[in-house]
Amino acid sequence: MSIAILSTGTELLKGTILNTNAGFLCRRLAAAGLRPVLELTAGDHPAEITAALGDALRAADTVLITGGLGPTRDDLTLDAVSRFFGLELEIDPLLAEKVEQFWSRRHDGRRAPKTVLRQARVPHGATILPNANGSASGIRIDTEYGGRMRRIFLLPGPPAELEPMAEESVIPAVAAYEAGAGHEYTQGFLAAGCGEYSVQLRLEKLLRDRPVELAYCARPEGTRVFVSGSAPAEVEAAVEEARTELGDAALPAGSLDLVTAIAALLEKRQLTLVTAESCTGGRIAGMLTDHAGISSVFKGGAVVYSNELKHTLLGVPEELLARFGAVSAECAEAMVCGATERLAADCAVAVTGIAGPGGGTPEKPVGLVYIAAKVGEELRVGEFHFSGDRRRVRESTAARALLLLFGLLSGKEGQTFLPPPQKSLRPEER
Ligand code: AMP
Ligand code: MG
Repeated sequence: MSIAILSTGTELLKGTILNTNAGFLCRRLAAAGLRPVLELTAGDHPAEITAALGDALRAADTVLITGGLGPTRDDLTLDAVSRFFGLELEIDPLLAEKVEQFWSRRHDGRRAPKTVLRQARVPHGATILPNANGSASGIRIDTEYGGRMRRIFLLPGPPAELEPMAEESVIPAVAAYEAGAGHEYTQGFLAAGCGEYSVQLRLEKLLRDRPVELAYCARPEGTRVFVSGSAPAEVEAAVEEARTELGDAALPAGSLDLVTAIAALLEKRQLTLVTAESCTGGRIAGMLTDHAGISSVFKGGAVVYSNELKHTLLGVPEELLARFGAVSAECAEAMVCGATERLAADCAVAVTGIAGPGGGTPEKPVGLVYIAAKVGEELRVGEFHFSGDRRRVRESTAARALLLLFGLLSGKEGQTFLPPPQKSLRPEER
């Protein structure tokens, strides 16, 4: 009993489109306690599809195949798979009618060309998986191969068609076949501000004797820790032990995302938040608004790229800008205070820095960023030196700004988990 995922599409191999279907299927299977043993991608050529299907069947009994069911010349999956198993393709009359109707509704009542009716072909003995969102139906083939029963699911490529079909006709069926197989249960949490190697060092020995498997995923805002095992109680106990070891850095079990944790803290303390962003250009506000329901605590923010807007929108004094420059601790502090006052909120984060590749000087090199966070009367300003290209500097800036805010909000600031800024500047120190 095992599952493989085979994606087809030359665009996937060229990198023109991102393979979101495989990720989607893996997530849904994981939620059902199932993990594929293999995931592979083949180009739109019969020989490549056939070879990949052979590999998939060596590894697994259930194969989920995506893409290549449409009417165009590069849609070859159905033909290749049918030929592989020696199954004749037959036109299904009901399906042909559906394809006709689908076509004529979109083409002023004209009849579908013959090539379009290819989508009404079904391998002999296979089951049709209805597609309410497109013309190509899904197909399920139950067949013997290599002396065992195999289940092959053919699913359309467009995610808007594949996802509902997978929910309705695939995941429940696969979960039923695989009932009794070694289910896997996974629980994760974010270790805020921690690097993946240091997290591994601390957890690996600690959990060595527990029947669980650990996985780490490095993120700009910390490391996601995943604990898997066959017994939920064992997994939960291991997660708690890991969280205790990591102390303040560990978000609650199941909490993988800093913004969710920040939203919960703001909600609990009934505080509102605004942002003031220069070098991140709204990225922090974007991350906050990715979280559904943030409107109850997040009011909005100002993107103040120019000195002029720092002054007119946030009231950063012109003399301050002239004396210290826009990339300075003084400016970050003035921005965060201006944001809470002018945008009337309890809390704010402000960032100003040099994302590069141009604009750096020996005194203020690319990657130099000042971040300020304010929660009520508490204010912190930090100086950071981030490495990498423009994208990386901006990503690190946004993540560190959220970490600084999280630390202040949770009262965990100054504790072990946050790697300190290169310089931590408190107002009283200047
Ligand atoms: P196909 O059925 O292979 O012709 O795919 C039709 C369209 O679905 C493609 O042009 C893509 O836009 C999309 N698509 C196909 N496979 C994937 C995939 N694995 N992930 C995301 N989108 C896909
Ligand atoms: Mg196609």
